[in-house]
Amino acid sequence: MLRGELTVIAGCMFSGKTEELIRLVHRARIARKNVRVFKSVLDARYSKENVVSHNLKDVDATPVSSPAEIDSLLSNEDEIIAIDEVQFFDRTIIDFVEKWINKEGRKVIAAGLNQDSKGRPFGPISDLLAIADDIIKLNAICIKCGSIANKSQRIVKSDSQIMVGSTDAYEARCRNCWEPN
Ligand SMILES: [Zn+2]
Repeated sequence: MLRGELTVIAGCMFSGKTEELIRLVHRARIARKNVRVFKSVLDARYSKENVVSHNLKDVDATPVSSPAEIDSLLSNEDEIIAIDEVQFFDRTIIDFVEKWINKEGRKVIAAGLNQDSKGRPFGPISDLLAIADDIIKLNAICIKCGSIANKSQRIVKSDSQIMVGSTDAYEARCRNCWEPN
């Protein structure tokens, strides 16, 4: 019997998505599961080879440029596929995730931003949330007022939806303090 399933970890910047992904990877490894960790090559914030959260607790991760590249690197023994910064991948990730969970019986844990800095669904995340078996929705604390924050405030100018950055480029904001840009 196949036991594939998809868990999506979603939230704004500084909501602890990568920490949660790392926590789930560590738990799966304690349970002696074979886990492969991938991340987008676009996320080169701290380390090319590791998934590194803002808290810098890292696990080994393979940087990839596409969902097809993840698929090409998998072996039959890989039971769990963990993917960080999943919003950076194109929509082909949906078909691959469905293949991995439905046809191959793997578990997929995907972490990513649910919204871009204008508040729109980011990349393939809305489809992934729609097909997820389990959703872990995280929030942060608004840097302006201390309320619960669900928005990523871009604090430097850019016209691109994708602008990788950390404390230098983004802040967590609540809906009242957030200005889309
Ligand atoms: Zn606020």
